[in-house]
Amino acid sequence: MATTLHHWKSGEIFEGNSGRFSDVTNPATGEVTAQLALASEDDVNEVVAAAVAAFPKWRDMSLTKRTQILFAFRELLNTRKKELAAIITSEHGKVLSDALGEVTRGQEVVEFACGLPHLIKGGFTENASTKVDVHSTRQPLGVAGIISPFNFPAMVPMWFFPIAIAAGNTVVLKPSEKVPSAALWVAELWKEAGLPDGVFNVLNGDKVAVDGLLTHPDVQSISFVGSTPIARYVYETGTTHGKRVQALGGAKNHMLVLPDADLDLAADQAVNAGYGSAGERCMAISVVLAVGDIGDELVSKIKERTVGLRTGDGTRSCDMGPLVTAQAQERVSGYIDAGQSAGAELVVDGRRPEVDADGEGFFVGPTLFDHVRTDMSIYTDEIFGPVLSVVRVDSYEEGVKLINDNPYGNGTAIFTNDGGAARQFQYEVKVGMIGVNVPVPVPMAYYSFGGWKNSLFGDTHAHGVDGLHFFTRGKVITSRWLDPSHGGLNLGFPQNA
Ligand code: NAD
Repeated sequence: MATTLHHWKSGEIFEGNSGRFSDVTNPATGEVTAQLALASEDDVNEVVAAAVAAFPKWRDMSLTKRTQILFAFRELLNTRKKELAAIITSEHGKVLSDALGEVTRGQEVVEFACGLPHLIKGGFTENASTKVDVHSTRQPLGVAGIISPFNFPAMVPMWFFPIAIAAGNTVVLKPSEKVPSAALWVAELWKEAGLPDGVFNVLNGDKVAVDGLLTHPDVQSISFVGSTPIARYVYETGTTHGKRVQALGGAKNHMLVLPDADLDLAADQAVNAGYGSAGERCMAISVVLAVGDIGDELVSKIKERTVGLRTGDGTRSCDMGPLVTAQAQERVSGYIDAGQSAGAELVVDGRRPEVDADGEGFFVGPTLFDHVRTDMSIYTDEIFGPVLSVVRVDSYEEGVKLINDNPYGNGTAIFTNDGGAARQFQYEVKVGMIGVNVPVPVPMAYYSFGGWKNSLFGDTHAHGVDGLHFFTRGKVITSRWLDPSHGGLNLGFPQNA
């Protein structure tokens, strides 16, 4: 019988009272593995209340003690990350090595947060005015709401919670209902690391849980990652309710291949970035722009590599796993049908793949289209599956125009051996994260992750210094001590002397 998964509140499992549940599946087999409790409004209020109650003590705890807990969490995670990777594979479907890579990238943010005392230091100016000193501090906001997507069950929440917690906030994480177990596993790890109860909580659920967090007066900030329509809704609703919001949305990432590029490298990387994690990455490459007359050779090199990929259960030795749900499988197959009907050349068809798996998993194999036009839905829409489209363009300028005209601006890459062209590209392209001969340019933890245009609503990107600023607010203190000079009354605006 499938187990039931609940919420996590004040250091223990919390069952809630909604009576509503959804299925959690293993996408490689189609089997229902758990029932997930979906929060009611009352459940939201109870979990937020726990985070509110834990805040004053956590905020008061010294940076040294808080950081020691972060270090303990990092050590436990490092030792046990294979367990977490296995959980991710069983609910998301990505292959184990990819799941482990995701955990490692998340761990980098934990490591960054271990050094937070250095970043949170304020400035100090002695004698700014005669015998008057000025200093600045940054303080936590209170309860941080984090709402995450299905495609990175561990890494995306880890973009936010290590920094939020290190800075003295308490957290309510609402994971995707498709992949809830990673968050619950992380909650137990925090407890083992010595985090006080109530500092990290997990609220499982759907729109009711999200709306509850967006409108709750005691939730101070919202970090959201998901599709663009929901990101826009979250940003608008959260800010209307007075919250600080960063809402990261969808993507349509282009890879521009110039005629002078190493085409074997470009083909390798197009395949890695197009089909890794079955294309379910916001930094996946979904469009290859082949400049000039390299199209035939590049497509033939990509095809050669694509047909050799092994698709199957991520626990076996495969390159690519299933899609997350039967609906995702149907949606992606529908896009392949549409691309074919619209007249794109279907070079590799993944609709009925040979797979190494038992049961009725949600598989679509790697799919390659050539001669894709920009009015086709396989070009205009975020497919979020293993479908790579090659668009042929005449020039660098035509390629850059397509990238800049695209409503999304998450990631992009240029493949070339011409340093001047690469420099010009990074200067003029309207995208947040850029790779030069690097197809998936996910920034390190000490830089910030985020796109432009419809790929991010809000001012601050995730992690790095932006992350610290998002989870804290500044104060500037002007002080005078033991100054015998007393100027008497002066109702004018304070001026320095
Ligand atoms: P999603 O938008 O369906 O769900 C994201 C979160 O929103 C989930 O927690 C979900 O429960 C909640 N949600 C879903 N529908 C809602 C509604 N109507 N009202 C309120 N909340 C709702 O996204 P997903 O399918 O889980 O993830 C894939 C999407 O996330 C893709 O578009 C991908 O590009 C994007 N993504 C973006 C980034 C980035 O950094 N920009 C990173 C990862 C994923």
